[in-house]
Amino acid sequence: MFKKILIANRGEIALRVLRACREMGIQTVAVHSTADASAMHVRFADESVCIGPPQVGESYLNKLSILAAAEITGAEAIHPGYGFLSENADFCQMVEEHGFAFIGPTPDHIRLMGDKIVAKDTAKKLGIPCVPGTDGPVASDEEALAAAEEIGWPVLIKAVSGGGGRGMTVVHDRSQLLDALRMARGEAKAGFGDDRVYIEKFLAAPRHIEVQVLCDTHGQVLHLGERDCSLQRRHQKVVEEAPSPVLDAGDREKLGLLVAKAMEKFGYRGVGTLEFLYENGQFYFIEMNTRLQVEHPVTELITDTDLVREQIRVAAGEKLAFSQSDVRFRGHAIECRITAENPKTLAPSPGRVTGYHAPGGPGVRMDSALYAGYTVPPYYDSLIGKLIVHDVDRPTCLRRLERALAECVVEGVDTNLPLLRTVIGTSAFRNGQYDTGWLGKFIADWEPPVV
Ligand code: ADP
Repeated sequence: MFKKILIANRGEIALRVLRACREMGIQTVAVHSTADASAMHVRFADESVCIGPPQVGESYLNKLSILAAAEITGAEAIHPGYGFLSENADFCQMVEEHGFAFIGPTPDHIRLMGDKIVAKDTAKKLGIPCVPGTDGPVASDEEALAAAEEIGWPVLIKAVSGGGGRGMTVVHDRSQLLDALRMARGEAKAGFGDDRVYIEKFLAAPRHIEVQVLCDTHGQVLHLGERDCSLQRRHQKVVEEAPSPVLDAGDREKLGLLVAKAMEKFGYRGVGTLEFLYENGQFYFIEMNTRLQVEHPVTELITDTDLVREQIRVAAGEKLAFSQSDVRFRGHAIECRITAENPKTLAPSPGRVTGYHAPGGPGVRMDSALYAGYTVPPYYDSLIGKLIVHDVDRPTCLRRLERALAECVVEGVDTNLPLLRTVIGTSAFRNGQYDTGWLGKFIADWEPPVV
């Protein structure tokens, strides 16, 4: 097993990885920008290295600084967390070429699932059903029109290099397509430095259902069930739960086996997530994330596993300690993403957290790097915490979540806590009847309570 791991991330996920290392007796190296000098992950790590100024391009995305930090501290492995360099195949390759272990898949696996077009092609070859759409980027207006007619309206123009819910444009009919295409290309170029776009069928009211996989390097391939991430805003996840309220045991088994078989063929290693849209009883693959997901704790709670520990063990070449038949699904878990932003306008709300109280008690887990007196920097993602609750079934889990959200106090910055408290009380959420477009419509008519 590794003696020392460098964690190439910040915030709650850096802390999450650090906690797993501590429990495994592994020394930790934190890296940080100058803006994060007093962050929790820096305070708790055994060693820390400042890797640059606040801007991510010069710090958390600075491959050479991170490798130098690993070199000078004598780390043997690098955990990339999520976001930043976690799905950067070149970084993964550099890490390995410099003699460190990358806690994640191989560079080739990342490349084959990296951009969305290659991923769909890879998925098709592995026998996974995809959203109907063009096989590659559309080269001309004529090709786009012909493809959209064949797919059927409405269609979605997607940026090949899009991510984080950005780079998607819905087009309802033929008359709008060419203007939308021009705009989408321009936005893709500006946002991702790549103007390639492709077209796929726009599903009107799907659920987002994803499957967690875990594979070692000795041929063991497991699926750990699904997560339902249909409560989204602007195509970004807000609340995630497991199991999905709309799948039965038969569907779960069928989807899990399909995915596990595909991953066996793919020869995957480590943790990964295959994301699907689910509509009218059909699953359509949209992408694979070749890393740990933000919402991994809901799976940990219902399967009683520690995904980060397993990830580290796999990277060290160890065998998984359990097989598919040992995986049991127990109870229900729900995660709420707590963000520092105006819940209505989504305007970021950086600043000093003057008061903080984390909820606790039975079945409650708060993954957060917040503390009273912490200043939320303006440079990074607005996620400041994840509240995850677990209980025997969905109705009791909802009551526990309501109780835990009521206990949660974050003062000094705006947060989405008022929205979360309202949403979980709606009949649509209580009955599990929501699709990926529901929350956006709900918020349009919602006013935050005046405090
Ligand atoms: P990103 O990489 O930006 O997160 P994804 O491809 O994972 O993009 O999609 C994010 C979300 O966008 C999905 O969960 C879903 O809500 C919506 N979406 C993506 N593709 C489609 C589609 N073909 N039809 C309807 N909604 C879609």
